[in-house]
Amino acid sequence: MQKKIHKFVQNGMYILLDVNSGAVHVVDKMIYDMMDYFDGENDAEVQKAMDGMYPAGDVQEALGELHHLMEIQQLFAPDIDVPPTFKAKGLVKSLCLMTAHDCNMRCKYCFGDTGEYGGERQMMSKEVGQAAVDYIIDHSGPRKHCEIDFFGGEPLINMPLVKHVTEYVRKREKETGKVFKLTLTTNGLALNDANIQWLNDNNISLVLSTDGRRETHDNMRPDAGGNPTYDKVMANFRKCVDSRNDENYYMRGTYTACNLDFTKDVEAMADAGF
Ligand code: SF4
Repeated sequence: MQKKIHKFVQNGMYILLDVNSGAVHVVDKMIYDMMDYFDGENDAEVQKAMDGMYPAGDVQEALGELHHLMEIQQLFAPDIDVPPTFKAKGLVKSLCLMTAHDCNMRCKYCFGDTGEYGGERQMMSKEVGQAAVDYIIDHSGPRKHCEIDFFGGEPLINMPLVKHVTEYVRKREKETGKVFKLTLTTNGLALNDANIQWLNDNNISLVLSTDGRRETHDNMRPDAGGNPTYDKVMANFRKCVDSRNDENYYMRGTYTACNLDFTKDVEAMADAGF
């Protein structure tokens, strides 16, 4: 058994922390000094070390108190079995699913090569989507609440996968007792009545991307044919947000050296009612 204590002085108080039990003892200076020697089995050695520093009777009495603390397991308490921690075994609580390595926009600053991510333009398969859900369930340990964000590229161009994974998540929730929060990050270009309805019916939180003012947005976020997208995106966002009573969504803007006055873009979104 390792006898684990920490001793320190704080705000003029002499403090002993017994690591295994968590007990904190505020002691006097004599006991604080005794703890440099005391190991629970060497009273004579402690008496000798304190000789000339403190009265022998006081030291003897303090030894009795220390032994009492040991008996009630508040000093040199035995080791305990610590359950696996994040340090020993990482838990996964959220996944960002790259549902589409493709996009219907060609943003100039795109960190994902407008969906390619340095590879080929392709869609995530249902098998991979299901495997991702199983992975988070298997690696989230005792954690009940998990999160999946449908991301891309543009996830709305792979709606069959988004729907399939959502259905599979709900099935696995029933089997495992886990609770998933699902979000979808979209540029809004492919929003339409049907997918808006489905997103609402399935309680999918939305992250809506736009850059604010028309000139800022259109400068950076053309569609795949190089056309401006502001009017179409804003109309779709308006319809979508109204359909969910102004709830369960966030706006996300990307700001660059081209709009250092980005607060005006934030204001533009507020003025547009988002
Ligand atoms: S919408 Fe997103 S993924 Fe598509 S090009 Fe723009 S930044 Fe890239």
